[in-house]
Amino acid sequence: MGIRLRGGCVCRHLRYSLDLTSTDEARTTLCHCGSCRRASGTNFGLTAKVPIESFKYECGSPKRYRQENSFVGIEPSGCPRYKVN
Ligand SMILES: [Zn+2]
Ligand SMILES: [Zn+2]
Repeated sequence: MGIRLRGGCVCRHLRYSLDLTSTDEARTTLCHCGSCRRASGTNFGLTAKVPIESFKYECGSPKRYRQENSFVGIEPSGCPRYKVN
């Protein structure tokens, strides 16, 4: 039996859903790269990693942000109403 999760940003502009076959498909990571530190405002950023095909936006379109360490292949995105500089 699959797992369906729903969520969104604080201002509710973005809404998403996530369908997993198992919680084993999801991973959390504490990262200390410059982009994660800046985005979180702390020494580490906490992220959740899921298969891209399991994730979709139900409402709104995310804004993509520039990342210092783009060589790792991560494209950060988030609510266009939230300002990250
Ligand atoms: Zn928002
Ligand atoms: Zn990072």
